[in-house]
Amino acid sequence: MSPRRSRTIVAAFATLGLSGLLAFTALQDSPEDATQISQIHKAFVQMAGNPQDALPTKSRVFPVHDMKRPQPTMVEPGMTGTASSPGTAPSDATVLLGPGTGMDAWNHDRWTVGADGVMQVKAGTGDVKSNDFFGDCQLHIEWMIPADRDCNGQGGCNSGVFFLDKYEVQILGSNPNQTYPDGQAGAMYAQYPPLVNPCRPNGEWNEYDIIFTSPRFNEDGSLKSPGTATVIFNGVVVQNHSTFMGVTSHGSKATYKKHSPEGQIRLQDHGDPISFANIWVRPLQPRTLAW
Ligand code: MG
Repeated sequence: MSPRRSRTIVAAFATLGLSGLLAFTALQDSPEDATQISQIHKAFVQMAGNPQDALPTKSRVFPVHDMKRPQPTMVEPGMTGTASSPGTAPSDATVLLGPGTGMDAWNHDRWTVGADGVMQVKAGTGDVKSNDFFGDCQLHIEWMIPADRDCNGQGGCNSGVFFLDKYEVQILGSNPNQTYPDGQAGAMYAQYPPLVNPCRPNGEWNEYDIIFTSPRFNEDGSLKSPGTATVIFNGVVVQNHSTFMGVTSHGSKATYKKHSPEGQIRLQDHGDPISFANIWVRPLQPRTLAW
């Protein structure tokens, strides 16, 4: 909308009051505004690339400060975990692990779990995968290396959390531990080291909050938009909307191959007795335009 047109509308407000407001509301749907919205949307889709980001429809277009716009749903937040005690999940989360859940959310029960909701890798029994499938989501997970564990590079203190069963954020005893940086705790394994290393010592709980976006593919199998992850590690950003270069691999460059935008959350049995607690997921809707 041009400045001149805006001034005209303000003047109309002053002289017409309520009828001016109604006139402005009508202008939101003018061809000029529709063109502007279309241009913003085109840039947005080029940036985000999500096929779910449909063109704004009449029902999704709201004037600024429109009280008819749906209110955000009230959510009761969980308790934040500490180095000595895991936290709790918010009210709208899908809880994968917590007090009393046992291994119900997972595809096998060969790992050990207590009534307190602390689960531990039982070495050699295999990774666990969530029974449910998730796509774009916020995932919270708390993990601890045993206090007496010797961490030596990738050995002794290793696990990982995978999205869609394919994309790993590394879990590793990293306080302190010298290893290849793209294998440290908080790394997008074999792709990006964490920006910094806020890992707590063995015997203390660490936590990740990860905002994950699934990659999208075109009909012909080519990549439409890559997967991304923002990782907050003990309250510190260590991945800032980092782009997955492909499915996690070891010792080779990652590549993409078309797959579903949803899949299982997987925790790695790397042969080490890593403990987990307070694991929950909140599926996220695709990003949308404001108006
Ligand atoms: Mg790992």
